[in-house]
Amino acid sequence: MIRIDHIGIAVRELGTSNELFHKLLGEAHYKIEAVESEHVSTSFFKIGESKIELLEASDPESPIAKFIEKRGEGIHHIAFEVEDILAEIKRLEADGFVPLNREPKRGADNKLVVFFHPKSSGGVLVELCQSLETMD
Ligand code: ZN
Repeated sequence: MIRIDHIGIAVRELGTSNELFHKLLGEAHYKIEAVESEHVSTSFFKIGESKIELLEASDPESPIAKFIEKRGEGIHHIAFEVEDILAEIKRLEADGFVPLNREPKRGADNKLVVFFHPKSSGGVLVELCQSLETMD
């Protein structure tokens, strides 16, 4: 694993939370992106090498809507950047971690992503991501 790419935070309303995190981090978000496959709108803040990803549900079927219903706003996942996502999936699966999707899918920020079930990783929803720009 290369680094913590970002921390994903579930929010009720992107506009309000963008303002809050702007104040907190001292800098505004640098982009907003809808991810249709996950039924979310996201916004990104840069902090050095890492990012904060705010996630707002775009419809009631969104995993973020369900998360907020159960637990309220808060940290949703931690994303690690990897060099070879397929090799990392294999490595983690062999060690008993349970992927939520077997095939990496297209996530926000021009990345291939896979999520691992929090039950297999100490209650933390883990995302692996590989930048598509670094793929040949
Ligand atoms: Zn993420």
